[in-house]
Amino acid sequence: MTLQRSWVASAQAANTDFPLHNLPFGVFRDWEGDDAPRVGVAIGDRVLDVSALKASLFDGVAKRAADACAESTLNALMSLGSEYATALRARLIELLDASHADIETNKKAVQPALIAMKDAEMLLPAQIGDYTDFYASIHHATNVGLMFRPDTPLLPNYKHIPVGYHGRASSIVVSGTAIKRPQGQSKSDDAEAPSFGPTKMLDYELEMGAFIGGGNSLGEPIAIKDARTHLFGLCLVNDWSARDIQRWEYQPLGPFLAKNFGTTISPWVVTMDALEPFRARAFARAQGDPAPFPHLYDETDQTSGALDVIVEAWLESAKMRDDGFEAVRLSRGNMKNLYWTLAQMVVHHTSNGCNFKPGDLIATGTISGEEKESRGCLIERTWRGAEPLTLPTDETRTFLQDGDTVILKAYCERDGLRIGFGECRGTVSA
Ligand code: CA
Repeated sequence: MTLQRSWVASAQAANTDFPLHNLPFGVFRDWEGDDAPRVGVAIGDRVLDVSALKASLFDGVAKRAADACAESTLNALMSLGSEYATALRARLIELLDASHADIETNKKAVQPALIAMKDAEMLLPAQIGDYTDFYASIHHATNVGLMFRPDTPLLPNYKHIPVGYHGRASSIVVSGTAIKRPQGQSKSDDAEAPSFGPTKMLDYELEMGAFIGGGNSLGEPIAIKDARTHLFGLCLVNDWSARDIQRWEYQPLGPFLAKNFGTTISPWVVTMDALEPFRARAFARAQGDPAPFPHLYDETDQTSGALDVIVEAWLESAKMRDDGFEAVRLSRGNMKNLYWTLAQMVVHHTSNGCNFKPGDLIATGTISGEEKESRGCLIERTWRGAEPLTLPTDETRTFLQDGDTVILKAYCERDGLRIGFGECRGTVSA
């Protein structure tokens, strides 16, 4: 693969999440100014204000897409369909390319529209109409199952359907928003009756989310061969979870108040085009596992429907901040280990005729791997509190304390190309 370079110097830094190849979309406004929110693209440590570029720099499909960047959410761009964002990204790559024949003219045209990222306030990238959370990591499902049902950790439906639940869109917040410790009902094993109060078992869940671009009409399922074109791009998702509340409420209808008090997402949406070099084979099913139903099976999806995305969870306590310690990594996993591909989740979700709309969000569920270090939430990482983690300050953690900051990160690396997702950060408050 030829690595294209940008004339934006910071996009060349070895550890940048946002080289020329990435160009994720987000919504921002100036910290200081009273300008309206608008769509930007991340390049190095800058935000490219697409709507500030001259219309004459674009034509055709790319022009229509650039026009949509004056909106205060990505929904307009998403609803145009995948070829529009693809054409816009391709044109922006030309304009930012250090080896382009017209580099001097391009620089002159683009430089005034570059804003320092530190001067930009990032907002939610889309107006999210509906949010669904899946449970696609078989390692996570098995581990959690082992804790609650040692005899039958994996329920009989798991290898047949991508299990999920409808989450709540109204409480999805952008990275940096404080998360208030929720109150709720819980009942411990030795208590005679449930009690109401602040959760004592607050957890994070390390997940990836996919934004739907073009939707489908009610009653018209998406075919697996078309599923990719309905995906706009990916972000990080922290599905904050109150385990004690969850345990008391989850039967028979699944998660409810244990989850819907807050979900944090990262502000930059990495496009499927940027992720194309990081496609991987779908999870290898074990001998004896059922084959996916025909509507969930596609040869191309099997050979390249997974994504090689490394995902990490980091923690910084209030005392660590006070004592000058950096955040510590709690886990590192990989999205390619999910039992189901994003295409299979899309197809399953719409197989009954349910309709997706532009800006809908689906999340993968906690991403865990086989090793202990790849478990993507505290209940798994500490095995329900039995194996506390020790922080550099000698504090221990089983679940989150007030003042703890959870930072999720993700990146892809292959053949010298590295792209990242930025951060998904949230601090727990009382
Ligand atoms: Ca979850």
